[in-house]
Amino acid sequence: EVADLGLRWKPGFATLGPAFLTELRPTPLPDPYWVGRSEAVARELGLPPDWHSSDATLAALTGSLPIAGTRPFATVYSGHQFGVWAGQLGDGRAIMIGETESGLEVQLKGAGRTPYSRGGDGRAVLRSSIREFLCSEAMHGLGIPTTRALCVTGSDARVYREEPESSAVVTRVAPSFIRFGHFEHFAANQREDELRALADYVIDRYYPACRTTDRFNGNAYAAFLEAVSERTAALLARWQAVGFCHGVMNTDNMSILGLTIDYGPFQFLDGFDPRHICNHSDTNGRYAFNQQPNVAYWNLFCLAQALLPLIGDQEVAVAALESYKTVFPNEFEGRMRAKLGLAEAAEGDRALIEGVLKLLAAGKVDYTIFWRRLSNYMADGNVEPVRDLFLDREGFDAWALAFSERHTPAARAQAADLMLKSNPGFVLRNHLGQQAIEASQQKEHSAVATLLAVLQSPFEEHPDADALAGFPPDWASTIEISCSS
Ligand code: AMP
Ligand code: MG
Ligand code: MG
Repeated sequence: EVADLGLRWKPGFATLGPAFLTELRPTPLPDPYWVGRSEAVARELGLPPDWHSSDATLAALTGSLPIAGTRPFATVYSGHQFGVWAGQLGDGRAIMIGETESGLEVQLKGAGRTPYSRGGDGRAVLRSSIREFLCSEAMHGLGIPTTRALCVTGSDARVYREEPESSAVVTRVAPSFIRFGHFEHFAANQREDELRALADYVIDRYYPACRTTDRFNGNAYAAFLEAVSERTAALLARWQAVGFCHGVMNTDNMSILGLTIDYGPFQFLDGFDPRHICNHSDTNGRYAFNQQPNVAYWNLFCLAQALLPLIGDQEVAVAALESYKTVFPNEFEGRMRAKLGLAEAAEGDRALIEGVLKLLAAGKVDYTIFWRRLSNYMADGNVEPVRDLFLDREGFDAWALAFSERHTPAARAQAADLMLKSNPGFVLRNHLGQQAIEASQQKEHSAVATLLAVLQSPFEEHPDADALAGFPPDWASTIEISCSS
């Protein structure tokens, strides 16, 4: 028996051949049930409207039934974890179903062991699967490049972490799941032919402009490295502007397309603390919020080293990384300017941005609530709700004066419009995810759907969802989340 999702599949990554992957089947899970679904992703995949009404589809997306027209596989990669070379890793629990004709890869995460599972069980718990599902869609709603998630399906089959938990599978979707670590793998093993084949595949499919560029005397591999650096810089600018802490920026968790990938211990900041560490196992704070832009650059350096045999010249490789140092600050300032309602750059913008971040940090002011209230202030002229957030009223007043002087009265409506489109009212705070998870663990999955609907349009007003836009409760700070679960 097979399930037919009504999609057409093409070979995609599998054309690279056996050095890159191992064909295998997912391991079934008993009695699956739906936990959450994203109709937006279903539409992007081109699934029929009734896609979720068949038991065969539910079973297939839990790994329990083959999908017509597919030959699933797991890919091999390596990487640097917490700054140290970790050797071979790979898809230890994500199984690639294939690539749809429209160019989207589909993976089942948590669908069983693979040759790359090392000690792991190949499974994912319901808790972390709901977090990945919701955050993928939340990031997309925020306009931040990310892998997507079609659905989460659960099973009462137990998996053991600190205690027995229910298991789940996330169906992930992206144009490509290739990571920096895929390149590092073949470079470290001195397999230049495979390294070149991989780079050619990625350039031809996703960075074709690198073939025709004049940059670096037409060195396509250097142009590719530069393009990846720039996409990564733009991604990091968006993370920093929205207050997103990834938590595990190992090189195997860095997308070659500049997508947010691998949702583990991530966190949207509550009170603004630049040094916040969201990963409970990151004792040294390597991946603290304010370290992220530098870590991304460090990771790009690893990618550059891996691509060196193809680029051919160390100086050229280093030059190809250079633009990160200008693109990141430019993009970051651009995002922050939009948050401040400033459509055009002017002298003093940087001071305005640094000034407000300093104030927010000093008062540990709630990051999301501050920006949304500032946007409302621009719209209705009532400063009190923003001002109330600060103990240092004088400090705030001084900054607010400079901010107001930057906005002419005639342009305030337009500025408010830009701000309300740039400052979300809703982000996936840890405690919101936790509440949905606890409901799902009791078989009440509607909280996941409710939260998803709001997070998919986080800049809109959701009058029935005030509770989702409020301050975190005291217990939120006691939530501890570590790496893989
Ligand atoms: P992560 O910390 O999520 O980036 O995972 C690092 C590596 O461990 C990757 O190669 C994963 O595929 C693998 N991995 C994580 N969790 C599991 C698991 N439960 N079973 C098998 N492999 C896993
Ligand atoms: Mg990973
Ligand atoms: Mg992970």
